[in-house]
Amino acid sequence: MPLTDAQLAEIAAQRETQSATLRPTVPAMEARLYHPVELLDHGFLRVIDYMGDDAAIVQAARVSYGRGTRRVSEDAGLIRYLMRHRHSTPFELCEIKFHVKLPIFVARQWIRHRTANVNEYSARYSVLDREFYIPAPEQLAAQSSSNRQGRGDVLEGDEAARVLDVLREDATRCYDHYADMLNEDADGNPVDPARAGLARELARMNLTLNTYTQWYWKTDLHNLLHFVSLRADSHAQYEIRVYADAIMDILEAWVPAAAAAFKDYRLGAVTFSGQMMAVLKRMLAGEVVTQEGSGLSKREWSEMLGSLGK
Ligand SMILES: Cc1cc2nc3c(=O)[nH]c(=O)nc-3n(C[C@H](O)[C@H](O)[C@H](O)COP(=O)(O)OP(=O)(O)OC[C@H]3O[C@@H](n4cnc5c(N)ncnc54)[C@H](O)[C@@H]3O)c2cc1C
Repeated sequence: MPLTDAQLAEIAAQRETQSATLRPTVPAMEARLYHPVELLDHGFLRVIDYMGDDAAIVQAARVSYGRGTRRVSEDAGLIRYLMRHRHSTPFELCEIKFHVKLPIFVARQWIRHRTANVNEYSARYSVLDREFYIPAPEQLAAQSSSNRQGRGDVLEGDEAARVLDVLREDATRCYDHYADMLNEDADGNPVDPARAGLARELARMNLTLNTYTQWYWKTDLHNLLHFVSLRADSHAQYEIRVYADAIMDILEAWVPAAAAAFKDYRLGAVTFSGQMMAVLKRMLAGEVVTQEGSGLSKREWSEMLGSLGK
């Protein structure tokens, strides 16, 4: 279970507390604030705070004194212009803070996004929960034969059952040894008074990478869009993609005009190299161009055709 009853009660209590503000708020975000979106088998993502909205992007771009009186369609047009021309700083002036619970191997990919502020749950100070990510059977795929960083067909039958058993048994065994080395009960008292117990900062090194960790993660809208563009992409690993997809959903509630422009100009857009453009111009002029006559490598050729949906 991603959240205990006590944690859910804390969230409910926080949602009961209201404070007046002169700052603009987004009703769709207020409705989501603090609520966890459950992801994978024990993970979640929840918005803890946010600053700014679509109008704040426009306000920053115009360096306005107030919120302005222009029509929503004019603001959306300006946001699309900024996105199209990579005038990115107005997007940096909106910020968001998340609480994320995620497997350690996903956290290792996520932490590579340096343009954020992070505070992780301390496994030097506290004991990690007995919670491991075990993939759903439909995510249990073989190594891809064509892409060294990708997945192939889903494992089935005895092999799938064996892999799931191994993942569960190894994680459980390592956690049991972790708990044994710590020699602590739930209140921090020794289980066996005759043993000192190993320090938490050392005992944790025995845990498997599918153990869940948690952090608070704050970033600005520009860098969040960069994160989503890389991690919601079909080439990203499924386990981080589910978090990026959940963030995309939040973006659509928070900054709908910016999210729509982002989907159009970044997520839905493709890049063609100069060489590819030369080939495309030849094709549009009616010439039959083959890979051999294109000057493109086989890989680039198939990537170009893939971008064209062929
Ligand atoms: C599909 C995929 C596969 C990957 N495979 C690997 C892999 O095999 N091995 C591996 O190590 N990583 C891998 N990565 C991680 C990748 O190389 C990036 O580290 C990660 O995506 C973070 O991107 P970023 O640096 O642009 O983001 P951020 O750290 O958020 O930075 C955003 C931007 O700020 C600028 N910036 C930030 N810090 C600096 C700096 N110190 N110097 C100069 N500019 C800076 C850059 O313009 C950067 O694009 C992979 C990522 C993806 C999406």
